[in-house]
Amino acid sequence: MQRSRATVAVIGAGPSGIAAAQQCIREGIDDVLLVERGKPGGLLYQANRLENFPGLRDMSGREAVVALGEIIQDYDIGLLKGDVSEISKKKNSFEAVTENGIISAKYMVLATGTKPRSLGITGERYHPEWRDYTGEKVAVVGGGDAAYDYALRLKELGAHPVILRRGEPKALSVLVDEASDKGIEEICHELTGWELSDNVYSLRYGDNSLSCDIVITAIGREPALPDMQFSYGEVKFPSGSTDIENFYVIGSLVLRGYRHASLAWGMGLAAAMDISVKDRNNQKM
Ligand SMILES: Cc1cc2nc3c(=O)[nH]c(=O)nc-3n(C[C@H](O)[C@H](O)[C@H](O)COP(=O)(O)OP(=O)(O)OC[C@H]3O[C@@H](n4cnc5c(N)ncnc54)[C@H](O)[C@@H]3O)c2cc1C
Repeated sequence: MQRSRATVAVIGAGPSGIAAAQQCIREGIDDVLLVERGKPGGLLYQANRLENFPGLRDMSGREAVVALGEIIQDYDIGLLKGDVSEISKKKNSFEAVTENGIISAKYMVLATGTKPRSLGITGERYHPEWRDYTGEKVAVVGGGDAAYDYALRLKELGAHPVILRRGEPKALSVLVDEASDKGIEEICHELTGWELSDNVYSLRYGDNSLSCDIVITAIGREPALPDMQFSYGEVKFPSGSTDIENFYVIGSLVLRGYRHASLAWGMGLAAAMDISVKDRNNQKM
């Protein structure tokens, strides 16, 4: 099994992880490894349009992640492809296990973000793809920012989206108003059952049903944590330092109701600044 070593290993290359890795390099720590199971950029890829991230304003999520990927290249950040299944704590380091090998590092930054909650519907999806949806009817179940963002994107891509939410919208009014202006259909009722027959879904709500080709579930997200053989205790803001010396947990993984890219980015910066100070102090000792 391949072994890689670094001073800092950052797990997850979303905005928080990229910010942490870039800032470590800016602070003079050269051997940083960024470990990512998919494409760099994280969940931002799913945003229809980014309005509030300075420098990437008015870009689609798809464009924004290209710009973030350029940071990885420009700063020569070591990017390792791998899905971290387990993290363990050794005497003076941490180890992350992936299908491709083991990464050990003195400092570890966990930036693995969140995973979507499921409704348990066969074949349900968690976000639209960036493709032509002309003629397809898509039910988006949920009433938050993501549900509205997805419905707006689907509309732009030619689909007929229908938002099915069980209560009043919880999304930003700018998204709700845009959906209404664009004539996106909304149903306010709890989903009470579903059937799938000949690739067509029938979603039941009360005495009625909605038929559609695709179901996208956007009912919230929860932390995406690899297996860990230790507990990291309390997470302190803004750097994400924990009760375990040299172990940081940052970004939407711990931001709960404050899941925005600039806050995730800020935590990445703060973690790297903390690590840099610690590392310099350790070297003096
Ligand atoms: C539809 C939508 C619209 C949005 N719009 C906006 C917006 O307009 N403005 C805004 O500020 N924010 C927006 N966001 C939120 C923003 O995308 C997140 O706040 C941000 O991406 C969080 O960054 P992060 O680095 O903490 O986590 P993520 O972006 O989730 O990145 C985590 C990364 O870790 C990787 N990973 C996870 N587990 C492992 C593992 N075990 N091993 C290896 N890699 C792993 C994932 O593949 C991912 O790349 C939006 C989100 C969605 C879904």
